Amino acid sequence: MSEGARHVDSWYLRTANPFTDDPPLAGETRADVAVLGAGFTGLTAALHLALRGFKVTVLEARRVGWGASGRNGGQILTGYNPSIATIGTWVGPEDARRLWHLSQEAKRLLTDTISRHGIACGLTRGYLFAGLKPRHMAALRDMQAEWRGLGHDGTQLLDQAQMRERVGSPRYVGGLYDPEGGHLHPLNYALGLAEACRAAGVTIHEQSPVVAVDTGAAPSLTTAGGRVRAKALVIAGNALLGKLVPGLGHTIAPVGTYIAATERLGRARMRQVLRDDVAVCDMNFVLNYYRRTPDDRLLFGARVSYSGREPPNLKHLMRRSMLHVFPQLADIRFDQVWGGLVDITVNRAPHLGRIGPASYFAHGFSGQGVALTGIAGHVIAEAIAGQAERFDLFARIPHATFPGGPLRTPALMLAMLWYRLRDMI
Ligand SMILES: Cc1cc2nc3c(=O)[nH]c(=O)nc-3n(C[C@H](O)[C@H](O)[C@H](O)COP(=O)(O)OP(=O)(O)OC[C@H]3O[C@@H](n4cnc5c(N)ncnc54)[C@H](O)[C@@H]3O)c2cc1C
Repeated sequence: MSEGARHVDSWYLRTANPFTDDPPLAGETRADVAVLGAGFTGLTAALHLALRGFKVTVLEARRVGWGASGRNGGQILTGYNPSIATIGTWVGPEDARRLWHLSQEAKRLLTDTISRHGIACGLTRGYLFAGLKPRHMAALRDMQAEWRGLGHDGTQLLDQAQMRERVGSPRYVGGLYDPEGGHLHPLNYALGLAEACRAAGVTIHEQSPVVAVDTGAAPSLTTAGGRVRAKALVIAGNALLGKLVPGLGHTIAPVGTYIAATERLGRARMRQVLRDDVAVCDMNFVLNYYRRTPDDRLLFGARVSYSGREPPNLKHLMRRSMLHVFPQLADIRFDQVWGGLVDITVNRAPHLGRIGPASYFAHGFSGQGVALTGIAGHVIAEAIAGQAERFDLFARIPHATFPGGPLRTPALMLAMLWYRLRDMI
């Protein structure tokens, strides 16, 4: 197997469930639906379509879960990045409320999919938002009030002392506990989705980069070794799709982001760092996020690279970020550090839509893809089956494009620098 087709070396790969190889596409074939990309979005769409009786073929450039899906923080979040009030200013309050209910359904769907298909991926409930300054606590109070108004009233505000009992860091002034958030092992979730797809009759071809996409009346995906002709397409290449489908790349920016797995801390020390088995993220725009593993390591996510390129001194930068939060870990080394491209939209809401008569896409989950990709795949399957109401609700969220051409990266870096400065104030 070529080097580029191996999964990134991560704690996830080292603790992955056994998985099989799918052969590359060879020759011409037909399907009801052809799917580009075997991340959470492509796989959940394929699974829901197959369960409805469609003949589905998935083409993946590298491996199942090779992209963001197999290397992310595994954190399950409630709602969307923008508040429901903000989404309401774009689509109206009624549609915003319906979108909230879809995001709640996303978490239930994730649990149902994992249990129905017996996916061993360490699904665990409990999420902690950490406030670093009074402004963050005001934002958390607003978020709690909005969620309560929408019927999610199980959250708990924590003061500085309560936060300190849970997280061994001197940095936080308080937090918000959300029992409905949580975490999972993302690579095992992706591998399990692929297994469920195969069991439902989906054909998956790995190492099959799509080089041409026909979104016209007779849709098809073409690779160097063959072509799939289909009645409908699902384009789920996300931040790795590049410029393959004209117009699609401009609504998302691929931003590099990174995770480090520490050596084993041992149970007692790990619990001094993080008392409970919950996922944590702080309230900065460029945020730190972390959780513990069953073998008592800290998985610590931090830093971004707006050029998408990995910083040469990444390990050092990650260490600095971790020690800022947990100075007591100065003697602890990292066993693995890895990164991936996260799919950011201008307004931080997911972007779903159609191209041509029968081609559907979903991308731009803006750091909330673990839960939201599943509902995206589900509503795409509904739309292809003829019930497009819920898909169209997502598709009504308006999206701006990032400036294209050579100015794309500098403009993004400038905008992000502003947010970074705001984090520091
Ligand atoms: C480091 C990191 C941490 C993150 N942490 C979190 C988190 O804690 N919680 C959260 O909710 N979200 C998080 N995210 C975001 C989340 O991982 C993504 O939103 C989600 O995985 C997107 O899934 P996807 O299937 O749309 O895309 P991907 O998983 O990127 O899958 C796209 C697939 O398409 C394939 N592909 C692309 N082009 C082609 C082509 N031409 N032909 C064939 N195949 C192609 C790729 O190889 C890839 O496998 C994180 C992302 C990163 C990178």
